[in-house]
Amino acid sequence: MVLLEEFRRKVGPVTIVKGGGYRCEAYNKKIGGAENSQHLYRQAADVKAKRVPHWVAVMAATFLKFRGMGFGKGKLHLDDRAGPMAWWVYQSKREHIG
Ligand SMILES: [Zn+2]
Repeated sequence: MVLLEEFRRKVGPVTIVKGGGYRCEAYNKKIGGAENSQHLYRQAADVKAKRVPHWVAVMAATFLKFRGMGFGKGKLHLDDRAGPMAWWVYQSKREHIG
């Protein structure tokens, strides 16, 4: 994903959180991912920035215009979906709705 590379250039290295990379259908279902999750299409990553505060990563993602963003405590879902933009706030640490 081109936007994710640009994000990394701006904020430095990131950690992909568990379950936050590519997901097959079965795994996505198992962890409660959204039915049409962008993770199924290799178009999403759930990341934690290593070198900058979380709020800086949030601002950077916003300015880079990711089309899908999920905001959690220290976790950021980023995707470059087609169609309408979407954003949400994770209600728990274990949530994987994106
Ligand atoms: Zn996600």
